[in-house]
Formats: sequence, C-alpha cells, structure tokens
Amino acid sequence: MTAMFEHLDRASLATTPTALEQGPIVGGGARLWVKRDDLTGLGGGGNKARKLEFLCGDALRAGARALVTVGAAQSNHCRMTAAAGARLGMEVHLILAGDGPEAAAGNQLLSALFGAQLHFTGAAESHWGELEIAREALTDQLTDEGLQPYSIPIGGSTAIGALGYATGFVELLEQCAGQHVTPSAVVFTSSSGGTHAGILAGRAALSAAGWAVPDVIAIGVAKGVNKGSPNVTDLANETLDLMQLPGVRVDPSDVEVDGRWIGNDYAVPTEAGDAAIRWAATNGGWLLDRTYSGKGLSGALGLADEGRFGHGNVVFIHTGGWPALFAADGIPA
Ligand SMILES: *Cc1c(COP(=O)(O)O)cnc(C)c1O
Repeated sequence: MTAMFEHLDRASLATTPTALEQGPIVGGGARLWVKRDDLTGLGGGGNKARKLEFLCGDALRAGARALVTVGAAQSNHCRMTAAAGARLGMEVHLILAGDGPEAAAGNQLLSALFGAQLHFTGAAESHWGELEIAREALTDQLTDEGLQPYSIPIGGSTAIGALGYATGFVELLEQCAGQHVTPSAVVFTSSSGGTHAGILAGRAALSAAGWAVPDVIAIGVAKGVNKGSPNVTDLANETLDLMQLPGVRVDPSDVEVDGRWIGNDYAVPTEAGDAAIRWAATNGGWLLDRTYSGKGLSGALGLADEGRFGHGNVVFIHTGGWPALFAADGIPA
C-alpha cells in the first residue's frame, strides 16, 4: 500500500515503522495498544517528524535554504523543525508565543541547541492568528534577504504535512495485521488538525482498497479544532488529491473530535490529563506531556470507561511531547 506515496517528494527524517506496544486492559474491558510515534527519532521524536518528511521534501524540491515556522512557547513542532534544519543543513527561524525566558528550558532549550533562531513575539499562547502574521512578515523579510525560505504554517498542518499521517495510518494498519490485532478504534491528540486529516485520508484510501478500518477519534486540545477549524474534511480531501486519489473522499461524518478533555484552554493543564501522565508513566513507562498527549490519553481512558470500545482493541497514537516535562511547569512533583 506504500506505492501510493512513491510519487511524492520526501526527506528521510523519521525512524519508522514505530513500535506498536501492547498495554493493559483499561475501562470497560478494552485492550490498550500504544503506537510509539513519540519515538520517530527526529530531535527527540513526536508526530511532527512524519509531517516534516513531506514538508522538507517539498522545501528541498523548491530549492529553499531556510525553514520558517511558528508555534506556542513550548512547541514540539518548532523543536522538530529545528532538528530537521540541522539534519538538512538549512537555517531555521522559529516564531514563538510569549517572551524570551531568562534560561531556555524544555523544547526551547532543544530548539536553540539545534541551532535555530528563536523569535519571541510576546503573543498570548493560543493567539495563532497573531503568530501567523508574524511568520508571514519574517518570511517576507528573509525572502528580501535572498534566503529562499520555506514557510510552514502552525503545526505543519497543510495537505503536504498531512501526507505524513496518511502514510502513518497505512503503516499502523499493516502493522496491526502483522501483529494479529484488529483495532476497533484509533485515538490521538489533535490541535492543528493535520494529524487528523492525514489519518482520515489514509483510512479512506485503505477502505477504498477493501480494508476493514477502525473508528478514528481525535481528542481536541485546542479551541479552534474543537469548533471545526481547520476544516478537517477539506484538508483530508486535499491530501487525497496529492495522493492522486481524486475518486476517494472523506465525508464530514468521518470526522469525530471529542472536545471534552481540553479543560479551560489550550496548554492549561487538567486534573485528568495529569492523572493520565502518571498512569502512563507507571503502567507502561510512557512519557506524556500536559498540553497534548496527557490530555489525549485522558480522553482515550475516559472513553474506555464510558464503554465506547467494549472489549475491543483501542490504539492510542502517542504523538510525543515529553520535552515539555522539563519546562518550568512541566509536571508538579
Ligand atoms: C502537534 C502535536 C499534536 C497535535 O497534532 P496536530 O497535527 O497539530 O493536530 C499532538 N501531540 C503532540 C505532542 C504535538 O506536538
């Protein structure tokens, strides 16, 4: 099934396939499996490595010499873009929310270590519109300086970036077949929607090829994605167009975002998320974070408690995020 991606430009950045690990029985009697996309390798790993393979493939094809992207103060996407630039010999500029700290920690420390230039905007954490305007302004400036920058929107969530999760989903279902696991649902954390769109594109492609496909449930941890922005259906269908499968479509009814686990806002910790971080650490040695994967797993465990998966197999895609544990408010001791 990987043939459907062969015509696409791709930089080799991620260590794949990532492992699919068996976890314990959870609420309602379901069996938890964890897809270790926290171990994609690139600069500490996480889901952005899969997107960056296609984004950087496109950047190299376009002859870019610099990468520009944008994110929250503790952005994993920015950290992995910094690492991608280091691997590919490209200058990297990061537009970040908040003000420059006295001492960089967590993802910022790693981004600086990878040689990226950090540009602090003073913007509030989830004011993504303001951050995107700053990205465009810096991109124009670097273009004027002749650097031929390749500019990547928040989270790398373009159709090109989403290709990373179309391939990721095909990888997962082929792996499930190889391990004789039939998943009834796949659950993961969503914030800028590209992971979700890619997964749905991969699911539609497999379904059209005659595969039985599981339910796909996104746990929304940003207000935008919980309100339907970006439009995940449209993004998934653009991704299918890039895969040259114009006859295969994702329907709005395929898009399920469970917004109950965000708490007060993006990057504001929840009790359930912190409990999930501790549960994962002690039940599997898995490292989750408070903004993304902790809230995501709290949703997966909560849905299991509600009986959503019955006695079936549920796969939690661990999208990464552990470096944020080492930021100032990473986790209370
Ligand atoms: C970016 C990120 C997500 C969400 O992925 P999107 O494609 O932006 O929805 C989930 N978990 C972690 C750890 C992330 O860094």
